[in-house]
Amino acid sequence: MRYQNTYVNLDTRLYHEQPPTPLDNPRAGHFNSQVAQQLSWADDEDLMTNWVEILGGQYVPADFKPLSMAYAGHQFGQWAGQLGDGRGLLMAQVLDNDGQPQDLHLKGAGLTPYSRMGDGRAVLRSTIREYLCGHALTQLGIPSSNALGFVVSDTRVRRERIEAGAALMRVADSHIRLGHVEWIASFAPDVLGEFTDYMIDTYYPECRDSETPVLAFLTAVVERTARMIADWQLIGFAHGVMNTDNLSITGSTLDFGPFGFMERFNPAWINNHSDHTGRYAYQNQPAIGHWNLNVWLPHFMRLEGVTRETLSDCLAPYEATFMQHYQQGLCRKLGLPHQRESLGLAFEWLTLLEDNLLDYTNSFRALLGLVAPADHPYEQKLLATMTTELSSDAQQVWQDWSTRYLAQIEQLSLEQVVNDMQTTNPVYVLRNSMAQRAITAAEQGQFEEVDRVFRLLANPYSVQDIANDLDSNAPAPDTPQMPISCSS
Ligand code: AMP
Ligand code: MG
Repeated sequence: MRYQNTYVNLDTRLYHEQPPTPLDNPRAGHFNSQVAQQLSWADDEDLMTNWVEILGGQYVPADFKPLSMAYAGHQFGQWAGQLGDGRGLLMAQVLDNDGQPQDLHLKGAGLTPYSRMGDGRAVLRSTIREYLCGHALTQLGIPSSNALGFVVSDTRVRRERIEAGAALMRVADSHIRLGHVEWIASFAPDVLGEFTDYMIDTYYPECRDSETPVLAFLTAVVERTARMIADWQLIGFAHGVMNTDNLSITGSTLDFGPFGFMERFNPAWINNHSDHTGRYAYQNQPAIGHWNLNVWLPHFMRLEGVTRETLSDCLAPYEATFMQHYQQGLCRKLGLPHQRESLGLAFEWLTLLEDNLLDYTNSFRALLGLVAPADHPYEQKLLATMTTELSSDAQQVWQDWSTRYLAQIEQLSLEQVVNDMQTTNPVYVLRNSMAQRAITAAEQGQFEEVDRVFRLLANPYSVQDIANDLDSNAPAPDTPQMPISCSS
């Protein structure tokens, strides 16, 4: 691997150098060979032979520089003070095959100075959810952390019950969160300049070409965050805990806990069991992204040339970037050009989904069965299921809508329409029930289902032989999507 361990050269108040605490008898859970290739991990015999020991914290290769990072954050809208890596370690920074920086971060690696009341561990259940979700989003084409693999162990971890300790080698373009800057502003304000230079040089080098690199950097963070959240909305993803300590400065999805993929369409859906007010409900995500950036940006006023006015110019593109990306994406999901008539149809379509509690993923995909039935037998079946779920009033709405929709489609190149729809409407997403089945088997020591779901999600836009009905079945309309506990 091409190591580039630069965080360890920053001011020593920002981190604590330490090795992981070994897990007891670590065993392979799953390994992502595609990630291993991309990092050139796969070219290193020592790393390949010893990956289980490395993830189990029993062996630290000489080129690794393990450390826990300090950060702070706003949690559920409240200032939470210092948080930091309480159970994860930045193990190494590398350049991938494309020359892009990637962090290897071991989650579940034991106690650190930032563990507070926690035990420094991660349980198998949440490790599998994070592993599969990072893979799912990556393969869907949404910027996200991913993982090299995970291990399970005999270390016992107490949650609501005693569970097996596990560890995930997370791979992300950066582990710097909005909360890093919040920590610096409170606890080491004198390093903000150095740290900002580091963020720009490492993750936004193109901003050096600007006459005002800091403002260019801040604007780029705003735009990338807006685009990431638009991607979430389009695919029906709810992050669940959009605290400032869980948002990366690179606009890449980070820190999976009580996340979920939308099943029966309900914009007010809350997937996080602890989110009593619905702050992080699906439909609130765009506004929360803005809220987070708005509490984050003013810290930069400490730097020369940054004023309240220039900061509001940095934040201003948020809404337009989000809207542009979301609306364009929504039109593409219907195979339509990005224009006013298409948006009108799109919003009527979403209302139909909401009024009839239709499955978000399957319903969008079902439209291929309407537009190009001959080539899409699977989608025709989805369409048949969908129409049987419509109320009698809604049947008429659907007839009327689909007639107008097909009239628009007829004016376009069918090849282009089908291509747009096939590449933006997945057949498979990681439904909570799928993750749960993989977890139940893994807790009995069987990892075949994790592997099958992993392979299925590797090609989410194609119908696959390894799928079974449960992979695309929506829960019954009268059973609300199960909220997920924060415990991990
Ligand atoms: P999260 O809710 O996972 O984003 O975590 C919020 C904060 O709690 C971060 O500082 C984590 O490092 C810390 N944390 C979460 N779980 C544990 C744990 N089991 N042990 C130590 N720290 C933890
Ligand atoms: Mg977190």
